[in-house]
Amino acid sequence: MQTIYVPKGKANEYCKLALNLYDSCPHNCLYCYARPMAARFGRPWNGTVEPRAGLLDALKAQLEKDYVSYKEPTKGAVKDFSPPERIPLKGALIHLCFTVDAYPRGFDTSITREVIKLIKEAGSHVQILTKGGEIAERDFDLLDENDWFGITDTGDCSTWGTPLRVEPNAAPLIERLAVLERAHREGIRTWVSCEPVLNPSGIYSLIKSADYIDTFKIGKLNYHQPTEYGFPPIDWAAFGRECERLCKLYKRDYYLKDDLRKAMEASA
Ligand code: SF4
Repeated sequence: MQTIYVPKGKANEYCKLALNLYDSCPHNCLYCYARPMAARFGRPWNGTVEPRAGLLDALKAQLEKDYVSYKEPTKGAVKDFSPPERIPLKGALIHLCFTVDAYPRGFDTSITREVIKLIKEAGSHVQILTKGGEIAERDFDLLDENDWFGITDTGDCSTWGTPLRVEPNAAPLIERLAVLERAHREGIRTWVSCEPVLNPSGIYSLIKSADYIDTFKIGKLNYHQPTEYGFPPIDWAAFGRECERLCKLYKRDYYLKDDLRKAMEASA
């Protein structure tokens, strides 16, 4: 089993390497794309959360080999493996996680700590993305200025202190932001994934106020409409332009995802 892999498509914009730790996620976000994908491929997603079978042994073996094998799919075929497609792991940044959360609330997350330790001991670094809230702080002692700690913010700030309706089992937004601020104070690099976006004004407020966020990665809501989740429609081009204007005005480091850039270009 190759645990660290090269994400394809839109995920690759976030990080060139990734690792998924668990077999499912309890946060039950209404917009989750991983849940229907798991159902499509017959993978379990049943409310219990377990570390992926054999994860630690497979990760140790891969870190020892010190590379990821990458096969580029071409028109239904798969190119033969060749040495240039070995991506070295030492010094690389590895995203935790795309298809599950690195800190599933209410479940044993000790394997997350074990995995971070192994990755750091091998000379690589982690880019964490979580809605798990303060349980993630337990592992801050393992992180340094080469690591990134991030949260998701859809801009929905309708309930600050309790879980959001669209993310019923995730940590409240105020808790996620407080943990992000603490990560920044401890010298860990911080980022926010503004994707999917449901409420532009919440993102604008974040750009204006959150000095403790080192990088904003901003996208849109793909494949669905905000109205499906009870939010007004969004003019994506106007949203992208306003985000860019505010990021420049407040001197924020930012990255606009391809889909958002395309929407802006299409209406230019
Ligand atoms: S935290 Fe991520 S993986 Fe978990 S339910 Fe929400 S969107 Fe899906």
